[in-house]
Amino acid sequence: MHEQVTFSNYSIGEAVYDDVVSLCRPVGQRIALIVGDHGFPALKDKLMPVLDEAGFITGDPIHYGGVASHEAVDRLAGLEAVRAADMIFGIGGGHVLDTAKCLADRLAKPVFTFPTIASNCAAATAVSIMYQPDGRVAGPAFLKEAPRHVFIDEEVLLQAPRIYIYAGIGDTYAKYYEVTINCRQEALTFPLSLGEHISGACASAMQAHAVGAMQAVDEGRLNDDFRQTVLTILITTAMVSILVTLDHSPDYNSGLAHAIYYALTGVKDFDHEAHPHGEVVGFGVTVLLLVDRWREAYRDVMALNKALGYPVVPEDLGLTMADIRAIYPAILQASDIRHNPYPITEDMLDAAFAALYDEKREEK
Ligand SMILES: [Zn+2]
Repeated sequence: MHEQVTFSNYSIGEAVYDDVVSLCRPVGQRIALIVGDHGFPALKDKLMPVLDEAGFITGDPIHYGGVASHEAVDRLAGLEAVRAADMIFGIGGGHVLDTAKCLADRLAKPVFTFPTIASNCAAATAVSIMYQPDGRVAGPAFLKEAPRHVFIDEEVLLQAPRIYIYAGIGDTYAKYYEVTINCRQEALTFPLSLGEHISGACASAMQAHAVGAMQAVDEGRLNDDFRQTVLTILITTAMVSILVTLDHSPDYNSGLAHAIYYALTGVKDFDHEAHPHGEVVGFGVTVLLLVDRWREAYRDVMALNKALGYPVVPEDLGLTMADIRAIYPAILQASDIRHNPYPITEDMLDAAFAALYDEKREEK
């Protein structure tokens, strides 16, 4: 079987914008800037003078279109400024980056990413999560290669709304538990084995640094915990995703924690704004670890979740146990859990949620 794996390189720290010049100059002179509403203003005063001085031609920034959709990519691919560009810069959050990556893949141009929030690994993965123009998920678009380079401006990430990195933490440590459980007792290919090993850093780095990173955000001051947390969210998780999704399936990359999240997207009154993806997934990991009877890991994650202020019981998400029972069928039918090493049953979920309520009672 043919196997091709590409990862994104990255720069972080004071000379990030100097690296843009040295790394992009060999690629060409014309850049199409694909931007969103919030991220680009946060860094344009640093980026644009450097590009101008180095002689790059950028033209006006191009708005990505509001949703990462194939329709938006079609529109952008028709623009002369995009067609004439030697490279694409994606500057913004996940939707902007996924749009820019998909566009670059379509036109066979190199893409460079400038994440302005640290909520997931979109800046460095070889997949774009695409949506319908109305916002419903359309599915993943697998790309020929990962972005060439991720330029990370910590000051910009530090000033982004707190909820992004707060949520990114849960989605990141989930990678270790979901991947490891999916890989259990299997003869693994080289990419799966490497991905599983790297995923360990998704959990250990969050245990070591996530609370310190939130402190950095709350005090408005950079520290090493912040840097390590950001790099783990953006870079480590992406490497794992790339390695464990070479077959373009969620079999190794996803699990019960994500199945719970996706089932909740179907609950009408669920407040997605207040409870973003990564926070729900972090809650879901505690359910997964209880179902799995992986007690040591459960204790570690529960302790971290409490330190972060993550939900412990459904009520912390604005839900009741009746709401949760109503989505059991959706959880148990999700493709995310089809590769779990044993079938998950309603009784297992009941026992796990009962244990979460015990946990909450003991807290008091
Ligand atoms: Zn996720």
